[in-house]
Amino acid sequence: MSDPALDPVGAEVRARARALPVADWWTAERVAPGVTKIVEPHLDPLLQANLWLVEGSERDMLIDSGMGVGLLAPFVDGLRDASKPLVHVLSHAHIDHMGGSWEFDSRLIHPAEAADLQRTDVGLATLFRDKIPRALRDGFEAEGYRPLPDVLVTARPSADYDPSGYRLKAAPATGLLEEGDRVELGSRGFTVVHLPGHSAGGIGLLDEADGTLFSGDAIYDGPLLPIGVMADYLRTLERLAGMEVSIVHGGHDLSFGQQRMREICAQYLAKWS
Ligand SMILES: [Zn+2]
Ligand SMILES: [Zn+2]
Repeated sequence: MSDPALDPVGAEVRARARALPVADWWTAERVAPGVTKIVEPHLDPLLQANLWLVEGSERDMLIDSGMGVGLLAPFVDGLRDASKPLVHVLSHAHIDHMGGSWEFDSRLIHPAEAADLQRTDVGLATLFRDKIPRALRDGFEAEGYRPLPDVLVTARPSADYDPSGYRLKAAPATGLLEEGDRVELGSRGFTVVHLPGHSAGGIGLLDEADGTLFSGDAIYDGPLLPIGVMADYLRTLERLAGMEVSIVHGGHDLSFGQQRMREICAQYLAKWS
């Protein structure tokens, strides 16, 4: 156990986290034929990312892997024909998108963030508010997120789970995806689009045949966070504003269409330019 003199999380908070109710960790919702949205409903909304399972005739694709609190691979295999291969793609290497990636055999990511998959000390790798630097928390609130509660989960995935034991596991990249690369699933395929700005190696996956875009955290219908280079983000928003899509499935919040994408791009281009 950590030194109480150095540990900003009090014993009462840790005990309360240890006593949280046990609940099913994941929920899944089919949003389109062969497209399932997976979320962690018992995480604080700031950390509650969307994971996407896309089923193809020859292989399936899982985009992102959540926080790494509850086991993900068995849940995903229960949603699909698990005799097919699974390609695991990371939209980017932030804690809420990479925590479960160690469970999978393939981990594909943009080269700009490949090294981050080996790290276990990335920001926000905790389930306690007071372990997150104050300046970082203030930044989230300034962008429109509500203040964080002292414990960032409202349940536990199993009776023996102690939130104080939460650690990120290293999961080195097994392959790289760059602008223009293809992820082929058989009956459908996706082109990689590099969308830096939220992070240096953020990627989207676009099915030009039907206009489906998985956009990661480059764009979603909630407060966007310019964690990367602002000039890159402005270029990314200009590119997205001109992109032909039918539906955008983002890294957070609800999916939206082309008109809403253009509104969001215009809003943030005006705010940040
Ligand atoms: Zn995110
Ligand atoms: Zn992110």
